[in-house]
Amino acid sequence: MKILVTGGAGFIGSHLIDRLMEANHEVICLDNFYTGHKRNILRWMDHPYFELIRHDITEPIRLEVDQIYHLACPASPVHYQYNPVKTVKTNVLGTLNMLGLAKRVKARFFLASTSEVYGDPEVHPQPEEYRGSVNPIGIRSCYDEGKRMAETLAFDYHRQNDVDIRVVRIFNTYGPRMLENDGRVVSNFIVQALSGQPLTVYGDGSQTRSFCYVSDLVEGFIRLMNSNQTGPINIGNPGEYTILQLAQTIQQMVNPNVEVQYRPLPQDDPRRRQPDITKAAQLLGWQPTVELRPGLERTIADFRDRMTANGTVSQDLSGTTVTAS
Ligand code: NAD
Ligand code: UDP
Repeated sequence: MKILVTGGAGFIGSHLIDRLMEANHEVICLDNFYTGHKRNILRWMDHPYFELIRHDITEPIRLEVDQIYHLACPASPVHYQYNPVKTVKTNVLGTLNMLGLAKRVKARFFLASTSEVYGDPEVHPQPEEYRGSVNPIGIRSCYDEGKRMAETLAFDYHRQNDVDIRVVRIFNTYGPRMLENDGRVVSNFIVQALSGQPLTVYGDGSQTRSFCYVSDLVEGFIRLMNSNQTGPINIGNPGEYTILQLAQTIQQMVNPNVEVQYRPLPQDDPRRRQPDITKAAQLLGWQPTVELRPGLERTIADFRDRMTANGTVSQDLSGTTVTAS
């Protein structure tokens, strides 16, 4: 099949492209390199079935494809809040353009939505039926409401124009290739621990998140795309941890000598988050397979390699081996 991946040079998109290329599909990666990087897709650059197009999805594009995985959108608060109006444009105009493309060429359209559509949830864990508690005017709204509108557009194109859609709601995902300056909690703590800096816990660290390893997520994507379900379907790992527990785990695994430092909690920071994955299990036969510690171990190894190469890993840590206990 000829498959378009928007945001394919990013963290999740590049892992998805690896899977699609390994399955012998023809892949077009569309990216404006806002948070993505060529190094993530370097191994495919000379492959005859791979094509990279530098393009901003807020502008229309004409292509012939069978499936579209639509991931283009900055995912970390630091990046999506840097230019919030652009984040709205990417989610609304960008998704509109990609749905228009899907309609014209009759491609199946897969939307990477998010657990952020549940906002600061009053229902725990969050099932797909829960309609969420989102602040429409806060600093996270450009992303949360942008993704809610992207879902609306997908379902309206489905009802009005018969576009074949798949919608996944992704919960916090981590793994190799996350950006070092991403600002997300897993990357921040690993970078801080490896460079001997204090781990910055926002608030008292009692807020929770559930962390899914990227290969599990990609497996869920492929199952949903090739199923007969439109979704929305939650994909995430139900293992729920407080942020302080995560800090202590990474501290233990990388550098027991670094301190934990408390910082103010950002505005509208959700108190807790855990996916109800009953639907993914029943309808797709999917469940996560990578536990937090082994997932962190692989992620830490990737950060260590990159940081050793650019000389930012703390000297006394560059030779140590991380082991899961
Ligand atoms: P990422 O920032 O690594 O990847 C996003 C990619 O989209 C980047 O390569 C970026 O350059 C590209 N992009 C951004 N705006 C664009 C535009 N206007 N035109 C073209 N390309 C553009 O983020 P990620 O973690 O890989 O997230 C991928 C998708 O998954 C996003 O849609 C995100 O909202 C969703 N998601 C991610 C998580 C997570 O925990 N990582 C959680 C929920 C949802
Ligand atoms: N967080 C933290 N220290 C950091 C970065 C994030 O304590 O250095 C907290 C943040 O306030 C939130 C949680 O970790 O409660 C997850 O943050 P992230 O940005 O990774 O994801 P999101 O809030 O979008 O789920």
